[in-house]
Amino acid sequence: MWAQLLLLGAALALAGLWACLGSRRGSRNPFVADARRPPAPLVTERDTRKRVLKQGRAPGSFPLHAVLVDHFLEGGWYPQGGASEIAFHSIPIIERAGGAVLTKAPVQNILVNSQGKAYGVSVKKGQDTVNIYAPVVISDAGIFNTYERLLPAKWQALTEIQNQLSMVHHGIAGFSLFIGLKGSKEELGLEAKNYFIYRHNDLDEAYISYFNSSRETAAKNIPSLYIGCPSAKDPLWEKRYPGKSVLTILTAAKYEWFEEWKEEKVTKRGKEYESFKSSFVESIMESILKFYPQIEDKIELISAGTPLTNCHYIGSPRGEIYGAENSISRLQVEVTATVRPQTPIPNLYLTGQDVFLGGFPGALHGALVCASAVLQRNLYVDFMWLERKLKANSLKKNN
Ligand SMILES: Cc1cc2nc3c(=O)[nH]c(=O)nc-3n(C[C@H](O)[C@H](O)[C@H](O)COP(=O)(O)OP(=O)(O)OC[C@H]3O[C@@H](n4cnc5c(N)ncnc54)[C@H](O)[C@@H]3O)c2cc1C
Repeated sequence: MWAQLLLLGAALALAGLWACLGSRRGSRNPFVADARRPPAPLVTERDTRKRVLKQGRAPGSFPLHAVLVDHFLEGGWYPQGGASEIAFHSIPIIERAGGAVLTKAPVQNILVNSQGKAYGVSVKKGQDTVNIYAPVVISDAGIFNTYERLLPAKWQALTEIQNQLSMVHHGIAGFSLFIGLKGSKEELGLEAKNYFIYRHNDLDEAYISYFNSSRETAAKNIPSLYIGCPSAKDPLWEKRYPGKSVLTILTAAKYEWFEEWKEEKVTKRGKEYESFKSSFVESIMESILKFYPQIEDKIELISAGTPLTNCHYIGSPRGEIYGAENSISRLQVEVTATVRPQTPIPNLYLTGQDVFLGGFPGALHGALVCASAVLQRNLYVDFMWLERKLKANSLKKNN
């Protein structure tokens, strides 16, 4: 079963990568034209635009920015029916191959035998703990969760593990805002586009000053905002939610600003937390309403998520949105040669963004290098053959 699962994992990673790279062939991607259009209406000054393209979203995150810009240059893709469709359609494939997908079943720890080899995981199910045995354990929970939370203390202390941990740092945390609106995309003039709004010309300086802010002044210093309109991107949206729209806004935030509430339960963190969260909501809404004045009396719901929300819902240790810090230091030869899918614990592998680079493309490549390590075969070569075969088939079909 595990071999089938691994093959399936590799196939899914290949399919994802194929979908990602498929956009390069410039075929039917509806967003290509928009992605290629210069952001003139937003960044008016030539020098500023250059700096934005050079510096990316946060100090030291140029590699991540380069990868993200690269995959946007040929236009992005949006799953019909929303992001949950990816899981919805993947689960039956996993199950058909003999696998199982468990929800509300957090892994408590990785099982390691007396010889130091991983042989399964211990999972929480209700009040009970269930052991699941496996010849290979692949963790997508991120390097910090895997080594610092899931690996028993004795194995965490291994010099090789500590060495790897010393080479990576926690990445930036995120603050998200979800706005529910009355009105269709046509009525509200919302488009299938992403906007990156920078409040200052010198991004490095703006981020440094933001992260050095006190809790009282932080919200006023937010340096940039990402705005997306998922409802306008989804061709099935209008059928599912007629006359409604949503906006998603994302910015960076510092975990430490929210840390004092980390032990409190989600939705029950108290008045002070809510009021601090509101200071971010108000500051962000001020910008949003300048950008979209037409939505002011159409707002039906505003829901905000702090770094602690990310800890709760996506299991990130410090509210990170792109995993381990994506700085230049992370791409140094020594680090990339040390932090790999193979871990110092035999049979335990790391996958996802932390073994490659943050973001969806980074996570897909992380899966590909991990599957290559487990199967001891370079799947990038398989991928090239697959691409050739698909191209030949499509040529045949077209002729
Ligand atoms: C709001 C937001 C917006 C983003 N926008 C973009 C974007 O526009 N473009 C882009 O490229 N990237 C974006 N990203 C980043 C992107 O989501 C990540 O880079 C990507 O999901 C990483 O994939 P992954 O598989 O490595 O890790 P994740 O998707 O984080 O998956 C890790 C999984 O491990 C689970 N987990 C953790 N601990 C345990 C445990 N103990 N037991 C069981 N499961 C556990 C978590 O619940 C999670 O499901 C965004 C992220 C966020 C939060």
